[in-house]
Amino acid sequence: MAAVTETIVFRWQFCGGVDEDSAQEVRAWVGAHGDICLAVAVRTATGGWLLDCGDLWSPETADMDMLFNSARSAIEHLARLHGAALVEAVCRCGTDADCD
Ligand SMILES: [Zn+2]
Repeated sequence: MAAVTETIVFRWQFCGGVDEDSAQEVRAWVGAHGDICLAVAVRTATGGWLLDCGDLWSPETADMDMLFNSARSAIEHLARLHGAALVEAVCRCGTDADCD
């Protein structure tokens, strides 16, 4: 397991739902408004989660068949393999401060 060498701020996207419980696919995007997709997790017919290919990270063959009990744990597994810690981005739109 790689040591954590970087922190990446990201935001969730819940495709086909409003949260992880209702989504069919969950994507992690860089920053509060960035257009780079870090990683993708897809719900299986049995309710588990599999990793799919993002712009930045894609699962190795061995990780493609790994079944996770949440999209979050799937994507965090991939982040750890890349030595990254994920921190949820903060959107500050509507304020004087910049978004993450
Ligand atoms: Zn914003």
